[in-house]
Amino acid sequence: MTEAEYLKPLPKITDETRPFWDGAREGRLRMQKCCKCGHIRFPISFVCSKCLSYETEWVDLSGRGEVFSYIVFHQLYNKAFAKDIPYNVALVQLEEGPRMYSNVVDCANDDVKVGDKLEAVFVPVTPQVTLPKFRLASPPKK
Ligand SMILES: [Zn+2]
Repeated sequence: MTEAEYLKPLPKITDETRPFWDGAREGRLRMQKCCKCGHIRFPISFVCSKCLSYETEWVDLSGRGEVFSYIVFHQLYNKAFAKDIPYNVALVQLEEGPRMYSNVVDCANDDVKVGDKLEAVFVPVTPQVTLPKFRLASPPKK
């Protein structure tokens, strides 16, 4: 699907964010790690929020985390999401420390609970953009 055909909002990829998006396209969850104190920075930043160092390196994370919080959207705020209603938005507590917003996919919204273990999956939406999403590490037996 081209960017013109994909109607949902897309990230604006910049030189600062490109390693994150390149990693996602390669199936890797990458974030900045402070070279001075080791803090994993997210959102992406030019300065460490813990020690104010400007030195950073990009590292691969495990892709593992758990549901810190979530909500199920029933209200349509953007027409591009009409076919997805109702859909969940989860705040994922990553094993390495940061929290990120995403969706828990490949399950019913009712299957998502706070504390559920998650693993990252990567969903290509355009040739340039692959979105990191998450699935339950232990899906419920049906
Ligand atoms: Zn630091």
